Amino acid sequence: MIKNTLLSEQAIKEFLRPLLFGVADADLAELARAAVVQSLPANTTICHEGERGNAVYAIAEGQVDILKRMDAKNERLLGQRGPGSFFGEMAILQDGTRTATVRTAQPTLLLKIDRESFLNVLNRSPSLAIRLLVPLADRLREADRKAITELRQANQELTHALQQLKQLDQAKGSFIQVAAHELRTPIAALSGYAQMIQNDLTAQESPFLRPLADGILTTTQRLQRIFNDILDVSKIINAKLQIHRNLWSMTVILKRVVETFSTAMAERRLTWQQTGIAALPPYPGDPKLLYKAFYHLVNNAIKYTPDGGVIKVRGQLTTDSQLGAALEITIEDNGIGIAKEDLELIFEKFYHIGEIAFHSSGTTKFKGGGAGLGLTIARGIIESHGGRIWAESHGYDEERCPGSRFIIRLPLSEKARRL
Ligand code: ADP
Repeated sequence: MIKNTLLSEQAIKEFLRPLLFGVADADLAELARAAVVQSLPANTTICHEGERGNAVYAIAEGQVDILKRMDAKNERLLGQRGPGSFFGEMAILQDGTRTATVRTAQPTLLLKIDRESFLNVLNRSPSLAIRLLVPLADRLREADRKAITELRQANQELTHALQQLKQLDQAKGSFIQVAAHELRTPIAALSGYAQMIQNDLTAQESPFLRPLADGILTTTQRLQRIFNDILDVSKIINAKLQIHRNLWSMTVILKRVVETFSTAMAERRLTWQQTGIAALPPYPGDPKLLYKAFYHLVNNAIKYTPDGGVIKVRGQLTTDSQLGAALEITIEDNGIGIAKEDLELIFEKFYHIGEIAFHSSGTTKFKGGGAGLGLTIARGIIESHGGRIWAESHGYDEERCPGSRFIIRLPLSEKARRL
């Protein structure tokens, strides 16, 4: 405990006089009468953040910490106050709650003046208002300065971290690209050997070797597809995708896609419904790349729609707010759908929703596996044609199957295509 030096009203008045310089004698006397002296040990909480303010405090001796709650466990020290300073006046002036917690940092001698007496004197005494406002303004300015310094520092740290992340991402990207490139050759050789075994008469008649050769071939083909996808993505990221434009009919491109997946769709009893595509004008795009983009979108529609579902493909001419006159193709399924928060993220490379371990290994099986690159490739291709692609869905639900819709818009005007 600290020794009480404020033993009489007169002593309190004399303590307040230099602090509230200019305040009339009668007002000082009233404040002194209303004041209650408190001698507190260290670590005593005087005001709680969020509580209604019902008193103003003046420190005679000792020190208090001003603390702000950051989360359930942590507090942040905003500042300290020592002898001669006031605290707690802000909540009274605003008639609101405490914006910080105040706790004694050491044994402290305080004057506590209740809200009503304080406001009474304040109403009569402009000098008291000025005495209180000046340090308050200083404190606000100081808090402002501190916040700006901290923000600048945090900004610098974030920029630095972002730079490091970009470098790491680049290093990771280059590694994946080199690895995919290097692994393509041995995998092509593996696939060649498997084909040789398949073509061998003895192997064809062997119930042991045939399924082995078939298995190796299917797996290597899958690996080849993944490596090709990785190389496509790295071209997209490095803006090295080359477009060879030619006038092409969308009907022809989509027909090739349907042919690719016809066996899978029959196996999964999926219906393909196409409207408006034949009426679209020929489009000056890269047929190979556009095939790839639609390949991935249709592959996804198949993968994420349960057996017996419907895939609807619609074509129309439209006016896009950014692209102007555009060709619009919508691929819609009645599958498991996509949660609102994932609608944009799914276009990120390697992004999967949920546990990858749950994906089966077949690319056209319900929820079959994939490297998480299909939509990155599709967006890269559409954007390199100057177009836009986005996803819409009423949410993810494997029971109700709200379905997903992917909208592709390709600009028709030459100017927009070059953007
Ligand atoms: P993946 O190889 O995993 O299919 P994609 O880039 O093609 O990678 O898709 C990313 C994720 O977006 C998928 O893992 C899936 O969760 C979700 N997705 C894509 N298309 C659909 C769709 N038609 N219906 C539901 N979810 C989809």
